[in-house]
Amino acid sequence: DYADVLSSDYQIDRKQIHMIESLGNGQFGEVYRGILKTDQQLEINIAIKTCKTQDAATTEAFLEEAYVMQKFDHPHIIKLIGVCTEQPVLLIMELARLGELRSYLVANRSDFDVITLVLYCEQLASALAYLESKKFVHRDIAARNVLVSNHESVKLADFGLSRQLKVDNSYYKASKGKLPIKWMAPESINFRRFTHLSDVWMFAVCMWEILTMGRKPFQGVANTDVIDQIENGIRLPLPGVYCPKRLFDLLQECWSYEPTNRPSFLQIESCLKSILNEERLN
Ligand code: ADP
Repeated sequence: DYADVLSSDYQIDRKQIHMIESLGNGQFGEVYRGILKTDQQLEINIAIKTCKTQDAATTEAFLEEAYVMQKFDHPHIIKLIGVCTEQPVLLIMELARLGELRSYLVANRSDFDVITLVLYCEQLASALAYLESKKFVHRDIAARNVLVSNHESVKLADFGLSRQLKVDNSYYKASKGKLPIKWMAPESINFRRFTHLSDVWMFAVCMWEILTMGRKPFQGVANTDVIDQIENGIRLPLPGVYCPKRLFDLLQECWSYEPTNRPSFLQIESCLKSILNEERLN
């Protein structure tokens, strides 16, 4: 029961929470912007996830994200602030003031320089290298799951799909449900095999979304045709003038058909740091 295994430090008194406005609809219910008043009379901006269905199984599934998130402490991963485990159950998270990355990119297309785009990639790579060190596969890395705190900082969110890997079992075998085919590595599509190296493939698709400032991968292509294209060696095109050559080469490496030919997140992070330094000198 997740309500019991969530650390007691995370329990929040509902009276401290003030909802302000709806931010949108999540998988389980409405997400709100609000304020948390601490015992020291501090006011913290928060995002509040609600769960519209209140049966035991749904509540468990909803709380699982909090259970996963409480294990992480990284500047580019949305932090769990707390939970209200009595019905209606609430998840309280750090607020990303500027919302979803994809819409932020699309809305501010003319304002972006390549340095900021590469910076976002580097921040996410550091978050993913951290998750890799914690033996976590995210399984749903995409721009739609990245939030913007301020123009210089993005954060990874949405741990609803992530799974901790067993020590003796380096991949997670997904059973059912809707899968984000256009972001997925071939071994994930074909065998439902999810590893750190399939996360690397997904992250390269996410970097492509960032570098194209919010284009959708394989737009207009049917899911069944995407796997055919991948099998035939076809990959997403050069994301335009904003992509340094070295970064495009990195994307290609991440899209190696054979997982072991892909770089690790640590390697990706250090490569992105070097590209960033190079761009800053230009
Ligand atoms: P779910 O993962 O349950 O489907 P989402 O995480 O997609 O829900 O949240 C739904 C909406 O709430 C999205 O539009 C997202 O932008 C917004 N949102 C979620 N978490 C935050 C947060 N921490 N800060 C700001 N906005 C958030």
